[in-house]
Amino acid sequence: MDSPLLVSSILAHAVKNHPRRGVVSRDGAEIVRFSYAAFGARVARLANALRRLGIEPGDRVASFGWNSHRHLELYYAVPSMGAVLHTVNIRLFPEQIAGTIAHAADRIVFVDGSLVGAVRAAIGADPALGECRFVIMGPADLTLPNAVDYESLIADESPEFAWPRLDENTAAIMCFTSATTADPKAILFSHRSTFLHALATAAADVFALAERDVVLPIVPMFHVNAWGLPFVCPLVGASLVMPGARLDPAGIIELVEAEGVTFSAGVPTVWFALRDALNARGAGLPSLERVVIGGSAVPPALFDDLEALGTKVIHAWGMTEMSPIGTVSTLTAELAAATPDVRRRERLKQGPFSVIVDWKILDDDGNAVAADGHARGELWVRGPAVAASYYNNDAASAAAFVDGWFRTGDIVTVDDFGFMEIVDRSKDLVKSGGEWISSVEVENALMGHPAVREACVFGVTHARWIERPIAAVVMRDGTAASEDELRVWLGERVAKWWIPDRVVFLDAIPRTGVGKFLKRALRERYAELLTSGGDVVAQNPSE
Ligand code: ADP
Repeated sequence: MDSPLLVSSILAHAVKNHPRRGVVSRDGAEIVRFSYAAFGARVARLANALRRLGIEPGDRVASFGWNSHRHLELYYAVPSMGAVLHTVNIRLFPEQIAGTIAHAADRIVFVDGSLVGAVRAAIGADPALGECRFVIMGPADLTLPNAVDYESLIADESPEFAWPRLDENTAAIMCFTSATTADPKAILFSHRSTFLHALATAAADVFALAERDVVLPIVPMFHVNAWGLPFVCPLVGASLVMPGARLDPAGIIELVEAEGVTFSAGVPTVWFALRDALNARGAGLPSLERVVIGGSAVPPALFDDLEALGTKVIHAWGMTEMSPIGTVSTLTAELAAATPDVRRRERLKQGPFSVIVDWKILDDDGNAVAADGHARGELWVRGPAVAASYYNNDAASAAAFVDGWFRTGDIVTVDDFGFMEIVDRSKDLVKSGGEWISSVEVENALMGHPAVREACVFGVTHARWIERPIAAVVMRDGTAASEDELRVWLGERVAKWWIPDRVVFLDAIPRTGVGKFLKRALRERYAELLTSGGDVVAQNPSE
């Protein structure tokens, strides 16, 4: 039958077939619970309220919030009525917040009460933003212009809504890239791409999510739809646990233990903090069977520590432009018989490709590169959940979308087992004396040192070698190591000319709004470190 793939059909399925599974949400100091049946009624009330406020098909509605049940209600109500939900990154600068909302032409902005100050700052940066209507979720701070309270807005609405039979290619959600290497660029996900991505991501060799799972998305709902979890969970009938604003390790541990969370997902930086807290108390989280880590490479030391605590680590790679999941490092039949070392090595790679992603690797001259685990090149992808362009950004689109493919900007290898590994982002590769250094490999070697908590390696200008690597490190609490000691440690693990010329010690590495290391900020801060007399004698790259 020709039945469109719609966000509303995921909701209808959960309401009808999994009415007793549902959503648990930390709402300030309280924990609130809704079965999918009760949740569905709230989604309908919200859609009726949006219609009363004049929202028409195609209109953009923004969310500015933590992971919460109300945010999830927006995920379903807005697309299902034919409008587009723009999930604004709450950690962007005020100018960027105002800029992305203007680019999307959002008519209404739903704001968490605790985030009203950030929106006020964005209005300060661009007073035109003050023309929007604001709906306040949670603590009712109604000090923004035209502000109304979410619960009062939906209270008297009908719990029924006749969801329209939309064309499945209608836009459902707009999300901007994380701005790690460039300004944020907007992507539109359709109902069809969202549905297909959810189906593909639920699969056993991908996230392997099932009805019995209790899922805690730590990855924010403004970071590529929390990697699809808000759609995958209702689709399989798994329950969702929303952490609200409390993302500190104690807050997460409390929720995992109280709700019996089996599955979680987030960027490496989230897990560093949780690992340290679990190690400090000397006990893992027995219910937490597995965690997906992605957004940047999983450091081997983090992988080993979490597995030692009893939680399986699933390494995933993706991009905003890909909805986002592209690969997940699940072992294949062939690897069942491999040695533990080989299995660990493969699981640390980004992994085999999802069914909805076709790929090729090209060198700088556009020639295909062998999938032999050694030859590297840029990864190009295409598929039904890969974007075809950036929204209203012709210049960026022309550079990234070529001949029906999307250029990822990631430099990768693919091995004999079909496992992809990211060597580096093309913008982060350090080119010393004409030869490439993989910043990821040097970072992983540094993070293997017992005193190092986080390491970030980036290139700066060098008089002789054009560019040389610098490492910024954050030490684990109560530990110390000198610059020389770390360089000696690296000398035993990476090529001599890959050893950073300098190691700088920081209290924190600057991060993007989604928690990735912000290398471009470090490159700017230390741009002149090697040219302003702070130079040390660099190794000859050819040695
Ligand atoms: P941005 O491009 O601004 O960082 P995204 O969040 O879409 O925004 O990031 C996608 C990029 O993140 C990928 O192209 C890749 O470079 C990096 N990335 C994502 N997951 C991983 C991973 N598991 N390992 C290494 N890099 C990753």
